[in-house]
Amino acid sequence: MAQEFGTVVIGAGIGGGHVVKELREQGYDRPIALIGSESLPPYHRPDLSKKVLVEGADPTALGLEDEGWYAENDITTFFGTDATDVDAAAHTVELGSGETLSYEKLVLATGSIPNTLDLPGSALDNVVTLRDADDAEAIRAQFGDGRNVVIIGGGWIGLEVAAAARANGAEVTVLLRSAPPLKAALGEEMGRHFEELHAANGVVFRTDAQTTGFSGAGTVSGVETDNGSIPADLVVIGIGASPATALAEAAGLDLDNGVVVDDRLVSSDPDILAIGDIANAPNTLLGERLRVEHWDNAVRQAGLAAATIRGEERSYDWQPYFYTDQFDLGMEYVGRSAPDDEVVIRGDRSGGEFIVFWTRHGRVSAAMNVNVWDCGDELRALVGKTVDPARLQDESVPVGEL
Ligand SMILES: Cc1cc2nc3c(=O)[nH]c(=O)nc-3n(C[C@H](O)[C@H](O)[C@H](O)COP(=O)(O)OP(=O)(O)OC[C@H]3O[C@@H](n4cnc5c(N)ncnc54)[C@H](O)[C@@H]3O)c2cc1C
Repeated sequence: MAQEFGTVVIGAGIGGGHVVKELREQGYDRPIALIGSESLPPYHRPDLSKKVLVEGADPTALGLEDEGWYAENDITTFFGTDATDVDAAAHTVELGSGETLSYEKLVLATGSIPNTLDLPGSALDNVVTLRDADDAEAIRAQFGDGRNVVIIGGGWIGLEVAAAARANGAEVTVLLRSAPPLKAALGEEMGRHFEELHAANGVVFRTDAQTTGFSGAGTVSGVETDNGSIPADLVVIGIGASPATALAEAAGLDLDNGVVVDDRLVSSDPDILAIGDIANAPNTLLGERLRVEHWDNAVRQAGLAAATIRGEERSYDWQPYFYTDQFDLGMEYVGRSAPDDEVVIRGDRSGGEFIVFWTRHGRVSAAMNVNVWDCGDELRALVGKTVDPARLQDESVPVGEL
């Protein structure tokens, strides 16, 4: 006999945690179920590579809400439990525990699965990826003075782990296919800025060594490359992630680079929504489909999904946003730039406090504030506007008056 719910949410991460909160805050009064593979209630995942890896924070302290909040808000939780199947015709979800839940509306918020390397030695201990609290604690346990940490990939996760490992005394090598790191996200010039920041803090970047395998007896001791062996006590593979769409596939939903949803986050099944890292949604402001793997996107889409479930007419109409913290650099980025956009820098890049604007045909396509704070709303408002580059650069013109 199925337990009956108004809304069932699969995935108790950033998106899933926020959608149940939004539903209650927006006045939804039907029974809600929240199912999550991880044993922890939803927590602030970006802090895994920051507070947990850098400072040793306890992941149980990162919860979006106190554990009691879910019962107090009449949300039935199934933590430490996999959803194993979705029967869209019957409106039911099967759990690994053998229970069956029925839903009127289903929200899929299953996030991403880190990509791995299938090479000789990949299964050795301490060849890992970073996605959840257990991964973060296992990685931090391997840090320490003189430990050799090799990171494969120079994206956000790779660089944040590199900074955390250096902060904890490890020797860090980052293997890249090409320099600079983050070039795909930020372009050549800003990629170089991050490269210089890491190099100044002792991180070694190598583009001359492509990984061919891992060596060691039980536990990794080296990364084998086409240019020799690199000693390693820990290897973190940071080569991107893929949307976790197995259940969406089981439900028969349209898939194309994630779950295809409309601008209200409804999938090809009118009673199933998808949010966060798995959602490929048309952004009505930008006029293009996006699948965004960032915290802010999951939070905002949770609010939109709750509104859609309540029958409100809203759409996916905001600029993408993300942030990172690495060494003494904290930054926020809003908008969406293209590799050939013009770059305008406001402030002294060498001093570490500056704002970058990307422009296309005179219009601001994205802005990034680096160690300059309290201007996020003003920068968000500027994206999409046409502004004279000389004014963008001129620090005597307040950002709010651009
Ligand atoms: C280490 C790290 C650092 C990050 N730092 C930043 C940052 O600085 N800035 C930023 O903007 N973004 C950052 N991100 C990205 C951000 O955390 C994600 O974009 C966000 O968590 C996506 O939310 P989500 O709800 O889609 O997925 P998730 O938060 O990943 O949640 C998905 C949940 O679904 C669960 N799940 C999957 N399948 C099932 C199933 N079948 N049954 C039950 N549960 C299931 C998973 O276990 C997981 O708990 C970071 C990510 C990581 C891993």
